[in-house]
Amino acid sequence: MSQTIYLASGNAHKLKELQSALDIANLSVQVCGPDEVGGMPDVEETGSTFEANALLKACALQTFGPRDAWYLADDSGLEIDALAGKPGVISARYAGEPCDDEANNEKVLQEMRDVAMASRGCRFRCVLALVGPELEETFSGFCEGILLEGRRGVGGFGYDPLFLPSESTHTFAEISLEEKAKISHRARALNKLIVWLKQSEQIET
Ligand code: IMP
Repeated sequence: MSQTIYLASGNAHKLKELQSALDIANLSVQVCGPDEVGGMPDVEETGSTFEANALLKACALQTFGPRDAWYLADDSGLEIDALAGKPGVISARYAGEPCDDEANNEKVLQEMRDVAMASRGCRFRCVLALVGPELEETFSGFCEGILLEGRRGVGGFGYDPLFLPSESTHTFAEISLEEKAKISHRARALNKLIVWLKQSEQIET
């Protein structure tokens, strides 16, 4: 039996990335975007954790779609140790609304200006939430690194130019999408989801 998963995100890139990861894993899962159930409803991300916000988004779409389907959402952000985990769940809007990557980076750089290199540890974290009938699971992935004292690289998005992953000598803004996909928080959460799907009795492999 083929299981349908609706992705609670309007981001076409995330939809492609998910379908391709599931295809490579040989899982009999059909991925659909929110447009197929009337579009992604507006969700206020009021949770204090990535888990809570990912669940809010997945459950919001579930109310519009078929009862027997599964719904997946993600939430992610940057946690800086010296800032007690900030920007965390408000990573996208840290410098205020509307979301502005450049302003967010500037705010973080200012707040970290007196912090020594040895204390600049941080991580990107991503949580995927999967809900369905009698189903509620979350999968968390993270990527450790340090927050640089200035931007490096022009690729990527968000805090990428400031983030030097432990596994590389290049920032997320200096590496290719393929390289990032090997070590990113999102890829690691997705891998955990795939392991779970492979073990699920409701999915054929
Ligand atoms: P979202 O969960 O995809 O909406 O991401 C929330 C925010 O976290 C983004 O707007 C970025 O500021 C930050 N973020 C999440 N993942 C990444 C990443 O891979 N690189 C840079 N910034 C990220």
